[in-house]
Amino acid sequence: MKLPARKIPEFHRRLLNWFRCSRRDLPWRGTKDPYRIWLSEIMLQQTRVAAVLPYYRRFLRRFPTVRALARARTEQVLRLWAGLGYYSRARNLHRAAREILARHRGRFPRALDAALELPGVGRYTAAAVLSIAYGSPYAVLDGNVARVLARLEALGGDPRAPQRWNHLHSLAQDLLAPHAPGHWNQAMMELGATLCTPRAPRCDACPVARWCRAYQLGIAGKLPLARRKRAPVQIRIAAAVLLDRRGRTLVVKDSAGDAGALFSRMWQFPAVKVSRRAEEELTQHLGALFGRALPSEEGNHLVPLVAARHSVTFREIILSPFLLRVARLPELEGARTPLLTELDRLPVSNATRKIAAAATSQLA
Ligand code: SF4
Repeated sequence: MKLPARKIPEFHRRLLNWFRCSRRDLPWRGTKDPYRIWLSEIMLQQTRVAAVLPYYRRFLRRFPTVRALARARTEQVLRLWAGLGYYSRARNLHRAAREILARHRGRFPRALDAALELPGVGRYTAAAVLSIAYGSPYAVLDGNVARVLARLEALGGDPRAPQRWNHLHSLAQDLLAPHAPGHWNQAMMELGATLCTPRAPRCDACPVARWCRAYQLGIAGKLPLARRKRAPVQIRIAAAVLLDRRGRTLVVKDSAGDAGALFSRMWQFPAVKVSRRAEEELTQHLGALFGRALPSEEGNHLVPLVAARHSVTFREIILSPFLLRVARLPELEGARTPLLTELDRLPVSNATRKIAAAATSQLA
């Protein structure tokens, strides 16, 4: 850090004071419970605060402790996560809770090495939980903190490049306030999230502007270099909403291939990735799935429903749902047959919800 060592205490004081007065009132602030902090950090990965808030509250009501989470069935955990996306987070959280119960007496481990062995816990999450819950001296580095540091030092280039990321990590560790590592880490993240934002940073309100090189050079808004986005890939998925006379539908899990991955390996309608002839390819898929021809009522056929768009990272997906009325749902090992209107009782992804919504609006 080029900031002179004698200035660092004042730098700490200013940023910590600003954080004390200006921080957003969030439910995971002010707690030292490692489970609550850990849960918030996992939910906040790739996800906005506003989206996380209702999930966080609901999750804690149902699983108030690591022990309660560890004892739950995976399906219960996924159901509470449904709609938040990136479901591997929920699966890892659940596996880690079981490990904590089995190997650490139900308490998030204090040692960095032990924390890093937990599923889904990387350097960032471990540093956040250990510093905030236990006051351990580990600096966090996420996108927000990296941006603040890159601007303070006027560093060009892609901060995610491995060498530069390691350099930023050393800067973050050098700058850590040793007497308040948890508050310090949160203050740096808060600065990046609220004032030192990617576009149009609000340097006029920044408590550390006097030490910021990018601000002094008038290049704050140009740093750091934006990452080159991966070119989007377009995919079309055809899905069949089978519906019997009682309003029951059929959902499956873990279908092989791209379609299964796009539904996060949760309960989904039978679906397949298609090229042009969606109806024909879906018909073939259903025939292969059920081991016979389509189980339609006589005269019934696949009725196209309103298509929906869905994005998962770089993939732009067009969902082409079809409705198929059947006298009786076919038997399929491992499948479930919920009422279409009660699909939400199962863990399903947002893509599946969109397909269900297209079907129910057709029936209304
Ligand atoms: Fe970020 Fe501006 Fe503060 Fe520098 S002065 S840290 S660019 S908000």
